Amino acid sequence: MKKTIYDYSLEELQEKIKPSFRAKQIYNWLYKKYATKYDEMKNIPKDLKLSLTENYPIDICKIISIEKSSDGTKKYLFQYADGKTAEAVLLLMKGKQKDEEGNIIKSEKYTFCVSSQVGCKVGCTFCLTAKGGFVRNLTAGEIVTQISYLKKDNNIAENKSVNIVYMGMGEPLDNFENLIKAIKIISDLDGLAISTRRQTISTSGISTKIEKLGKLDLGVQLAISLHAVDDGLRSELIPMNKAYNIRSIIDAVKNFPIDTRKKVMFEYLVIKDKNDDIKSADKLVKLLNGIDAKVNLIFFNPFEGTTYERPSKNTMMRFQEYLLAKGVICTIRESKGIDISAACGQLKEKEQNGNS
Ligand code: SAH
Ligand code: SF4
Repeated sequence: MKKTIYDYSLEELQEKIKPSFRAKQIYNWLYKKYATKYDEMKNIPKDLKLSLTENYPIDICKIISIEKSSDGTKKYLFQYADGKTAEAVLLLMKGKQKDEEGNIIKSEKYTFCVSSQVGCKVGCTFCLTAKGGFVRNLTAGEIVTQISYLKKDNNIAENKSVNIVYMGMGEPLDNFENLIKAIKIISDLDGLAISTRRQTISTSGISTKIEKLGKLDLGVQLAISLHAVDDGLRSELIPMNKAYNIRSIIDAVKNFPIDTRKKVMFEYLVIKDKNDDIKSADKLVKLLNGIDAKVNLIFFNPFEGTTYERPSKNTMMRFQEYLLAKGVICTIRESKGIDISAACGQLKEKEQNGNS
């Protein structure tokens, strides 16, 4: 993919564009005012705009559909220059809070669920994204624009923080270099200024890459898609487990630098009669011993053709209660946007006819 303006860090642009103060102005337009055309950049001279248009394409993607859920969740479908598509989801975590006179006392809280690849190589048997196979990595710019476009489309003020979870389509750590570049651009104070502490990378557990990420010490949060407590079942669910087994993941997590106020999140997808029994809950407690962990239980979301089933609410609560009783922090993930299939793992590349 051709490089675009969104693929550059501020330092890189400062080196390339002279006088260098222009780079900051451009960053400001892109990430604080959400400009998507050079024509909008009023304080940039005409000749510079012309050369930028030629050397740093800005029109890299368009939003081709938006689906709104009754709970405030919105699913965006982006189409990139080569016609490929990826989805990003806006989750409204908390609505506006008003006092008795109707004055806003607390504004909305948003989480953006962002894609890192078109398709995925990991091939988890419970995941819809996996069904279409792997198509390609997203560039850093293609990751960054999911966020700036969502902020723009929802009129979210530049100084309003949002949380980012890399839980859309794809395995973020399988697109390591582009992901790290995107995180750098997204967290730049002169740009979107979203602190790395507000960014969570969810991984199916490529232990070597977790180690590599840890060494960079970026301050990002880590979420591990564990889903099973023994290697047999985990390899059935996540074939890659044969190469990176549970022990190797736990060891990688133990070496990962964690913000002392935060915890490592372990996602546990609960599938009826597969991993929903108390024996599994007990094994999970033992496995997490010595890790500052919190567990997030996820209801399996069925899709056409799957043989796996969604567990009952009671089963989920029993599992949660067991963990809580053993002192492990455990929440049950609310399935937001379920009516528009916007829940994590329900994102799939849309069939495209040519480049239309
Ligand atoms: N590849 C990364 C991030 C994207 S998947 C990872 O696997 O962690 C994001 C989350 O959606 C993962 O926790 C994944 O296990 C979950 N998920 C996938 N398919 C699902 C389904 N059918 N129902 C519920 N959650 C699902
Ligand atoms: Fe890829 Fe994550 Fe889906 Fe597994 S769950 S196939 S790693 S996107």
